[in-house]
Amino acid sequence: MKVTNPATGTVIADVAADTRAAVRRKYATARAGQLAWARVPIRKRLATIAAFRERIVAMHETLARTLTHEVGKPIRQSRNELNGLLTRIDFFLAESLGSLREEKVFADATQKLEERITHEPLGVVANISAWNYPYFVGSNVFVPALVAGNAVLYKPSEYASLTGLHIAEMLHEAGVPKDVFVPVIGDGATGAALLRQPVDGVFFTGSYATGARIAAAAGRRMIKVQLELGGKDPIYVCEDVDVKAAVAGVADGAFYNTGQSCCSVERIYVHASIYDAFVAAFVDEVRGYKLGDPMDESTYIGAITRRPQLGVLKKQVADARKKGAKLLLGGAAVKDKGNWFQPTVFADVNHSMALMKDESFGPIIGIQRVNDDDTAVDLMNDTEYGLTAGVYTRDEKRARKILARVHAGSVYWNCCDRVSPRLPWSGVGHSGIGLTLSTYGIQTFTRPKAWHLRGA
Ligand code: NAD
Repeated sequence: MKVTNPATGTVIADVAADTRAAVRRKYATARAGQLAWARVPIRKRLATIAAFRERIVAMHETLARTLTHEVGKPIRQSRNELNGLLTRIDFFLAESLGSLREEKVFADATQKLEERITHEPLGVVANISAWNYPYFVGSNVFVPALVAGNAVLYKPSEYASLTGLHIAEMLHEAGVPKDVFVPVIGDGATGAALLRQPVDGVFFTGSYATGARIAAAAGRRMIKVQLELGGKDPIYVCEDVDVKAAVAGVADGAFYNTGQSCCSVERIYVHASIYDAFVAAFVDEVRGYKLGDPMDESTYIGAITRRPQLGVLKKQVADARKKGAKLLLGGAAVKDKGNWFQPTVFADVNHSMALMKDESFGPIIGIQRVNDDDTAVDLMNDTEYGLTAGVYTRDEKRARKILARVHAGSVYWNCCDRVSPRLPWSGVGHSGIGLTLSTYGIQTFTRPKAWHLRGA
């Protein structure tokens, strides 16, 4: 399988993709390795994750450069992702013992009865991952899954195979056995072959379309299925904000990672009384974003990782223009080697446009005028997705009232495009089922076993 740098269009590596037979063999390897791994004391399993953290620190710049070459992410943002990964690992190192400890939930001496819960590993799990934050979305699954005593068949996205191989190498060097963390390399067909193996759980990050296929494939098997899918995340800006500060925050939320984040801001609603001022300041802000060589320290907008996405963005632009939206900035692909799209801002958009309904996953945004909070809430909820949603206002009570009515897994007051290891990461509707992160996101890789113990 060829690995292409999306910023230049040049092939940078050739990796061996797994055949179906290889996938079957890898499954058998992981099945055999899991039992011994589950018997390793949890403190020792945690020690391997701590050693993995050390490997990341030692390899930091190499990993950042590989990521940038492979997905076109600006180099500073690749480094940020790795720094964020360290923080996540620290969370899992600190919280896993407590989250996975055997619990005594009832004891009655007269009945000689005790009730306990143990957290048993699921067994062999498939971790099918996305390319946009390969370290984040991968580690949210494989770190707690390994700590809990599972074997992991890890399929990185075909757009992030080199990063996936780095991860496997570092985990193995850190002491996770090769038959416990097993990389599976390939595209969607390889992912489908992996799912045909009798795994005990599927943890998927990717698009709704693929997620729906995976849910259907797993449906009759009675295994744990978690799907972290896309979003069409809205922000509502109220009239009482400091416009400049709100613009800076929301524009960054929309364009960071070249708009290719699951929780990128994808729709902006602005109160009518500050609409014109907000739109003008927003365009100014985005005009200042530098598009260019992702290896350049000053680049903020990188390449579009998947070439077919250029077609999606072009269609959204044409549709918005046809339906009367005002194009204020950008609006076209950049004619150069590699995959590039200009940072694009539309005003006067509405929900008849694909730009406000379908995930864009690129550096493009629509701003819509609203007259009151109720309309804003209705529009924010007018989506099949529900990953995140936010409101900018000085008034906490108003923010809480609005956010309580919004259907989303995560809600933000005066911030956006933010993930915390301490909080559960989950979606509503087409944004998925299940969760990662937080202590729930540690226990999710286990089956709680109920013990009824009566003394003789
Ligand atoms: P994708 O659905 O194209 O691919 C995801 C993974 O699934 C890849 O590894 C791919 O090879 C594999 N795959 C494809 N077809 C398959 C099949 N039939 N069976 C098994 N595996 C298959 O998604 P992508 O382009 O890698 O990622 C972008 C999407 O991911 C966006 O929609 C984004 O919003 C979403 N995402 C969500 C989160 C979240 O936490 N909710 C995080 C990151 C990305």
